[in-house]
Amino acid sequence: MILIKDRDDYFMQFSEKILNTPSSFIRNILKVTDAPDVISFAGGLPNPISFPTDALQKSINAAIEENGTKIFQYSTTDGYLSLRQYIADKYKKNYGYDVQPEDILITTGSQQALELIGKVLLNKGDGAIMEEPGYLGAIQAFTLAEPTFYSVTLENDGLNIEELEKALQNPNVKFIYTVPNFQNPTGLTYSKEKREQIYEVVKKYDVALIEDDPYGELRFEGEPLPYIGAGRLENSILLGSFSKTVTPGMRLGFLITKNKEIMQHIVTAKQATDLHTNIFSQYVIYDYLANNEYQEHVNKIITLYREQSNAMLDAIAKYFPSNIKYTKPEGGMFIWVTLPEGSSALQLFHKAMEEKVAFVPGDPFYTSKTNVNTFRLNYTNATPEVIEEGIKRLGKILHDEFE
Ligand code: PMP
Repeated sequence: MILIKDRDDYFMQFSEKILNTPSSFIRNILKVTDAPDVISFAGGLPNPISFPTDALQKSINAAIEENGTKIFQYSTTDGYLSLRQYIADKYKKNYGYDVQPEDILITTGSQQALELIGKVLLNKGDGAIMEEPGYLGAIQAFTLAEPTFYSVTLENDGLNIEELEKALQNPNVKFIYTVPNFQNPTGLTYSKEKREQIYEVVKKYDVALIEDDPYGELRFEGEPLPYIGAGRLENSILLGSFSKTVTPGMRLGFLITKNKEIMQHIVTAKQATDLHTNIFSQYVIYDYLANNEYQEHVNKIITLYREQSNAMLDAIAKYFPSNIKYTKPEGGMFIWVTLPEGSSALQLFHKAMEEKVAFVPGDPFYTSKTNVNTFRLNYTNATPEVIEEGIKRLGKILHDEFE
């Protein structure tokens, strides 16, 4: 124990793991981009008009009336059984995936599942294979466990297979983290063929395959595709979330694995973290799901996001110079833009802020690259008119810079 004799000399000794973990770049820049006169394509928020507020209000009352004090009491770590049964039935129906309630853990958003996976699978220095670019919240969550990241290029149809095989040669690799549908940040979706190829490669190794799928239900083009490993790989971990389809504020996500050992350790880690997920939210969302036309609700979000995505793609085609590349999402919330080689999205960000339009520069989505030439656009939070105006402003800067 160190005695504090002189307060002026006193400083905290923080852990290396927290000192090495980046604070959320997006949350930091949102403070600047949130000003009312800025057109922001920076956040990754679902559109609030998609929240079923009235139905949730009824469910709050119904859940209290039906469940009495239980809804305010401590509860089990695994989560509310009826909710887990609902999720199990849905995966059976939609994917033919034989999931039982005991294969499901309700988490405080899927973000918590990422942190728990890091805690349970990674020793300091262990390998985590990541998509490049990849979800920055996953980079942040895993960094707390001090891993070695192996980046595999995310191509238009999924992970680069040669790079994946090479990364898997490292004996310290514990898992591969993927977002196969409408990925954050790129909006890209793995093709059916790529999913099959990845499955064939991964099944030869004793590693876990994480499929993080918060956006999968929000498909506005093309056909739903089967998961890569869920339902057939022994070490498959599938993550889902109600954040993008019902509400993120209730912080409800879930982890599905049929691997009993993985589940047992994750449950222990969750006990240490928060004992259990907010049980009030779990009862409320269950009542909502059981008593409303959920699919109709999701279809409304899909229609809204299709319109917004089209508005942004049309505006990009009209206002961006032809040497700027961009993805065309089949669902989800994001478009990924690539500037000419050697240019800096961060510099562009500062110029764009002068014109009162914002996006997220690509840097925080890479584990080891900085000053990259890529950036993320979110289209779910502006009307088609505002989207057009924002893209027009960006297009003007791009023409000045890159033509
Ligand atoms: N995974 C991905 C790929 C995400 O984009 C997000 C949210 N931005 C999350 C997980 C976390 O979502 P939540 O904790 O709200 O379920």
